[in-house]
Amino acid sequence: MAYYVGIDLGATNVRSVVADDEGEILGQARDSTPRGPTGIAVTEAVLNVVRRACDEAGIEPNEATAAGIGAIGPLDLAEGAIENPANLPDTIDRIPLTGPVSVLLDTDDVYLHNDTNAGVIGERFHSDRNPDDMVYLTISSGVGAGVCVDGHVISGWDGNAGEVGHMTLDPNGFMTCGCGHDGHWEGYCSGNNIPKYARELHAEDPVETALPVEDPDFSAVDVFEHAGEDEFADHVIHQLGHWNAMGVANIVHAYAPLIIYVGGAVALNNPDLVLNPIREKMGEMVMSNIPEIQLTTLGDEVVVEGALASAMTAGTGDRSRL
Ligand SMILES: [Zn+2]
Repeated sequence: MAYYVGIDLGATNVRSVVADDEGEILGQARDSTPRGPTGIAVTEAVLNVVRRACDEAGIEPNEATAAGIGAIGPLDLAEGAIENPANLPDTIDRIPLTGPVSVLLDTDDVYLHNDTNAGVIGERFHSDRNPDDMVYLTISSGVGAGVCVDGHVISGWDGNAGEVGHMTLDPNGFMTCGCGHDGHWEGYCSGNNIPKYARELHAEDPVETALPVEDPDFSAVDVFEHAGEDEFADHVIHQLGHWNAMGVANIVHAYAPLIIYVGGAVALNNPDLVLNPIREKMGEMVMSNIPEIQLTTLGDEVVVEGALASAMTAGTGDRSRL
């Protein structure tokens, strides 16, 4: 019997699953991602959840055949580590992953991906058709994509392919992105930036609204909750749909996917309000084939399932390798 390990290292949680060669999950564990003191503490937390998942599966860690990791970035793929993670405290500069996991599991077959690439690997593995041209798009605290073209999951220099959230959509640069540049997709449409964008729109045109725009706790949830009941909330959602459609049209023109799976909390919690405006605008925005646009079939599990699928298919998500 072969055993495979999937690991999802996020800014909030770290999870691991252990499965057999049919992909059936035998054990799993999760913990909160440590906020320090250093990156080594995060590495230790990863190793710990892997040990616990193996324990629940009734195997020793060194019985595992291979592991896949889907992690927050940025990654140093050559070193198998995370380098200065954007969403963790500054004292965490480097989180070694591939080396320590490889030692624990006593295998060289450890595949490290950023979380969106793990996402597209998971979608590919679980897709009915296993298309060679697909995109996994996440609209969450950030915006990013994992891209598979001609059967290759692309990673690019230092694994930075698919950073579509930092494409410039608005040449006027109304909003500044968390990365410091103006007009980026993520600066308008990520879960963290939607309330900031709504505030800016409201400052430009202070119409009456039920949205608590002055409240420090004002969030994207408030905006979507008021859909259909508040004119200003509908205006914000309409604008978000416009930018999301433009971003997706750019993805279509760059990569020609057959299907785009959309995940991330903003999309998962508001599938119709987020996806329908994108679908409706494809016809007027795209000059080539219009792909299917669907909510991820894997929900919150997409990264850890993708990491597991990577372990089972030598980092590809291609089921024909099983
Ligand atoms: Zn940016």
